[in-house]
Amino acid sequence: MNPLTKLTDGYKVFRDGDFEAKRGTYEDLVDQGQKPKVALIACSDSRVDPAIVMQADPGDLFIVRNVANLVPPYEREGNYHGTSAALEYAVQHLGVEHVIILGHAHCGGIHSLFEENSSDGEGDFFVPPWMSLVKSAYLRVQGTMPDASDEVKARVCEQSAVLVSLENLMTFPCIQERVSAGQLRLHGWYIDIRSCSLQIYDPIKQSFEYVD
Ligand SMILES: [Zn+2]
Repeated sequence: MNPLTKLTDGYKVFRDGDFEAKRGTYEDLVDQGQKPKVALIACSDSRVDPAIVMQADPGDLFIVRNVANLVPPYEREGNYHGTSAALEYAVQHLGVEHVIILGHAHCGGIHSLFEENSSDGEGDFFVPPWMSLVKSAYLRVQGTMPDASDEVKARVCEQSAVLVSLENLMTFPCIQERVSAGQLRLHGWYIDIRSCSLQIYDPIKQSFEYVD
């Protein structure tokens, strides 16, 4: 099937089905505005759609998707901070109460860190500097488990990168203030879509714990 036909057909099924069933909800969300309680940073990966895997309803999630679900540190230089702009809007204007970093297994962005010295990257101008945001996670994995396979290292690196993004969230003054005031909580989640397992970072245990 033509991939675009699949999408327009899907739209028609949505329009005549789910939308019709929730027409009132959609009208309220437009008339009264969105009031999501949760902002979520997810990967652009086509296999990890937060709204699908969490069965979220319209209005539930304010989602930012980028390569490898990364949050850059707060910086005022430059003009095109898409992820930072979305976070600022979610926190300052929508007043979300939670920010979730949703990492995932088999992330192409994280894998690219392990392919840095290959010649396949010719023409990649934007991914390498973007992924350098979590170079520290990569170096930590290489230093602490040098004998592990790249596959194992990548899984650990994916989770370490979530923690780097959590740390970067706290460099935003608007986030730091609200976290200190108890108005905002930050969370690190990690999903493996092959096994459909979800893990949540426990800051007390300092480990990712499986959701039953
Ligand atoms: Zn990814």
